[in-house]
Amino acid sequence: MSLRDHLIARITSQGPITVADFMGEALLHPIYGYYTTRDPLGAAGDFTTAPEISQMFGELVGLSLAQSWLDQGAPNPFTLAELGPGRGTLMADIVRATARVPGFHAAARIMLIEASPTLRAAQTRALAAHSIEHIDSTDALPDAPLCLVANEFFDALPVRQFQRDGAGWRERNVGLRDGVLCLGLSPVGPQASLMHRLDDTEDGHIVETCPAASPILKAIGDRIASHGGAALIIDYGDWRSLGDTMQALRNHEPVDPLADPGNADLTAHVDFEALCAAAAPAAHSRVTPQGIFLERLGITARAQALAAKLDGPALEAHIAAHRRLTHPEEMGNLFKVLGLFPDHAAPPPGLER
Ligand code: SAH
Repeated sequence: MSLRDHLIARITSQGPITVADFMGEALLHPIYGYYTTRDPLGAAGDFTTAPEISQMFGELVGLSLAQSWLDQGAPNPFTLAELGPGRGTLMADIVRATARVPGFHAAARIMLIEASPTLRAAQTRALAAHSIEHIDSTDALPDAPLCLVANEFFDALPVRQFQRDGAGWRERNVGLRDGVLCLGLSPVGPQASLMHRLDDTEDGHIVETCPAASPILKAIGDRIASHGGAALIIDYGDWRSLGDTMQALRNHEPVDPLADPGNADLTAHVDFEALCAAAAPAAHSRVTPQGIFLERLGITARAQALAAKLDGPALEAHIAAHRRLTHPEEMGNLFKVLGLFPDHAAPPPGLER
């Protein structure tokens, strides 16, 4: 049996499912889910991410968080947390880069939130030299100062999609036509959560909501506002969502999201406005392009220092990695960075209010 067969059986007996249900099953079904069954990252996988491209990304993210921690009086103890840590590369780079920040390691309790058993095992291996704890949700984070990072985590959370129809909305769903999975629309109805979108959309426009993101942001925002700390959220998306952004990637190429669920990565753009609203009362930075954030933190100087020790193909790969992370035509503009911090504190370095 495949996930497609399982979904066809479910839809045959229960009727169409929401796009969010479809995404949730495709990514995290306990037996057939994409993340449950594999390590999808890197050249041999389906996609790659900034920490896998270069160690410089994690180093600069780590130093930005550590500077926020110092600026807020170096609270001890505090939680150093990551959402969706993939192979554990980003946290390993953060920990290495902050080793010489006085007191940072001694005060840090490292906590990782990861749904995939395969990737939990990879994270444990990558961080074998450190004491780490895996937890199931942000609700299990201690009531303590919190320094948190999430890179390409929120894009993996399921979205609901709504198509404007007059003063109401029709939800997009996944059903069957001639035994094949296909997209459909529910009957039109009001959507209380989308009242504010009646002003900036027209008939036929699609907007997306991410119900799973709000409780996660609330847990993070509450801790940062009450106890201090900072969060860096890095992802592709915009201040307000518009349009169908669900996309499937397999072997680094776009594929039809419905064609072979569970065997392609599935993502949607992040609506940073919704994340900020859910994180209140924590303050938030401007949404800043990744390239600008990394340049402000000195990535060019760091790249030059590393380049001095390299030659040949390793040097060429390093130069390409720097360009890939920062150039506006590569990841530099598509990816955005959002900072969360206590209202009385400064935003993490690299960001502004
Ligand atoms: N941050 C890593 C990996 C990004 S891929 C990097 O930059 O390389 C998305 C990560 O989020 C994976 O580790 C995936 O297993 C995890 N993930 C996806 N949905 C999740 C959920 N609902 N709860 C916890 N982890 C999740």
